[in-house]
Amino acid sequence: MQLKSFVLFALSVASFVVAVPNAESKRQAVPLAAVYTTCVKPRTIAFTFDDGPHIYNYDILEALKKVGAKGTFFLNGNNWNCIYDLDQTVRNIHSEGHQIGSHTWSHPNLKTLKTKEEIIAQLQPVDDALMKIVGVKPAMMRPPYGEYNDMVRAVAASRGQSLVNWDFDSGDSIGLPLKDSVAAYDALLKSNQSTIIALNHETSQTTAQKLIEDVMPKFKAAGYTLDTVAGCLGLEPYQNVGIPGTRDASWTCTNGPK
Ligand SMILES: [Zn+2]
Repeated sequence: MQLKSFVLFALSVASFVVAVPNAESKRQAVPLAAVYTTCVKPRTIAFTFDDGPHIYNYDILEALKKVGAKGTFFLNGNNWNCIYDLDQTVRNIHSEGHQIGSHTWSHPNLKTLKTKEEIIAQLQPVDDALMKIVGVKPAMMRPPYGEYNDMVRAVAASRGQSLVNWDFDSGDSIGLPLKDSVAAYDALLKSNQSTIIALNHETSQTTAQKLIEDVMPKFKAAGYTLDTVAGCLGLEPYQNVGIPGTRDASWTCTNGPK
């Protein structure tokens, strides 16, 4: 190798060596939120309920109580209902020891949002509402439709939240008939899967009044623990726990993002 080409070779190696740590440290500078799709505690199932607070919440809480289970509720700020109008429902969930997570303010597909600010605008007001109503800041959020990208994960991480999806879908959001949802749960039970995060919707009357009453006792009888997502992951459900506020003019959904 001639001197000139050796120097060029050495320089290119040097720049390569230098370039790699730089790229690495740049990547590490933006932490991405963890995405959980399955639990870790053996023989545990986390029943999750999205899109509330909703009028069927009462039935779900009754069904959970009956079987001695804890559930997880991913709440919207203003989707089917305004969270401030159903504040007592949120208090009921919390006081009965279930977990509350965020499901964004108005349920957009977060992948379609163009800027970090738009994503923050979907997360911040939910956290504010939960702090006002029950005094908690959730450590977990479920992206609507289970859809996310790296920008969503980066924003969630910067807000101290991890993402929670699922590894079993009851099919209630696509209008699966009750018998088919029951059959899906029965097949799941038969598969003997060790840990499960099950997707359900608080807004489905069938789920609230029939489906979970049918299937939850079967899992209980098979020796499963019916726990929250935080419980079955061994994580904290909330970043902050404080004192709830009292209703004032800020308890409104009129200022939230559409
Ligand atoms: Zn949803």
